Amino acid sequence: MKKVLACAALVALVAGCAAPAKPSPNAPPAVQAPAEAQPEGRTWSTPDAIREMFPTWLEPAEPFRVIGNIYYIGSKGLGLYLVTTPDGDILIDGGLPENADMALASIRKLGFDPADVKILLNTHAHFDHSGGLARLKQVTGAPFYASEGDRSALEGGFYLGSEDLHEVDAPPVKVDHVIADGETVSLGGTTLTARITPGHTRGCTSWWLTVEEAGKPYDVLLFCSATVAANRLAPDPQYDGIVDDYRHTFEITKDWKPDVFLANHPEFSGLWKARARQEAGDLLAFVDDTAFPAYIQAMQADFEKQLAKQQAAAGGTD
Ligand code: ZN
Repeated sequence: MKKVLACAALVALVAGCAAPAKPSPNAPPAVQAPAEAQPEGRTWSTPDAIREMFPTWLEPAEPFRVIGNIYYIGSKGLGLYLVTTPDGDILIDGGLPENADMALASIRKLGFDPADVKILLNTHAHFDHSGGLARLKQVTGAPFYASEGDRSALEGGFYLGSEDLHEVDAPPVKVDHVIADGETVSLGGTTLTARITPGHTRGCTSWWLTVEEAGKPYDVLLFCSATVAANRLAPDPQYDGIVDDYRHTFEITKDWKPDVFLANHPEFSGLWKARARQEAGDLLAFVDDTAFPAYIQAMQADFEKQLAKQQAAAGGTD
C-alpha cells in the first residue's frame, strides 16, 4: 500500500539491502552543502538504493498553482510548496538534497524569484523532506523555522534514533527560530499556524493556513505524516515517548476537517489525481473535506497494527 511507503527506504536499509552507495551512470550530481554545515570533503547526495526504490522522488514535475496563493514546486514523488505574498514568500520543505535546485528552478518557472523567499519551514526531520533545506537556505538567505523536537536531527543532519545509519543523513541545517505548537507565522497578509503532530518524528509539524479562491476562503492543511514507516515503536523505541506521541496526534487530529489536504508525499492526498481534474477545468479540484479524515483514520488503524506486530515480534506486549 502506497500510504505506508513514506521513509520506507529506511526499512530496506535497516534490513541491510543497501550496500554502500556506488556511483551510478544516471545519478544526478552530488549536491554540495554549504561550507559552514559540511564536514570537510563531504558531499551529500541520495544513495542509489533510495533512488532506485523511489524513482519518482527525483523525477521533475511541472510546477503549478494549487489553490489561492499556494504553489506546488516539488517533484513527482516529494511535495514542496511555495506560499506567495506581497511581502515575500514562504517555502515549505526541502525534499532530498537534489530536490533543492529542482525547486529553485520551479520557482523561477512560475515567474517568482528565489530571492523573495523570506521564511523557510519544514514538516519533519527526515532526509526526504529536510535534505534540500541547507541548500535552499544558502541560496535564498531566508531564516529557517522548525520545532524543538526536530531541531537536534535537523542541525545534526541525522535520523533521530538511527544516528549510525548514514545512508539517511541529511545536510545539517541551522534552526534560526524554534516554532511552538499553535504558534503562527505571518507574512504579507497570510498566516500559517503550526501544530506539532508528533510520532512520525518527535517534532513533526503540520501547517494550517486559509487561502482565498474565487472570492471564498478555504482552510488548507499541509499535514506532516503519521505513518509508522521505519520507526521502531517497541520494545526499543525510535525515541522515548513515541507511542504516546502517535496517540496524541490521532487524538488531536480526529476532528480536523480541512477543505484542502496537502501532503509532503503527494500520493497521500491524491495530489496528482486532483491536478488532473484541475487541468480539465475544475478550479476547486483540491477542495475535498472528506480526504483528511479518511487518511488519518487509515493511519491510526495502521499504527495499531504495526505496534501489535512489533510487540509480538519482540515476544511480549510490554
Ligand atoms: Zn518521514
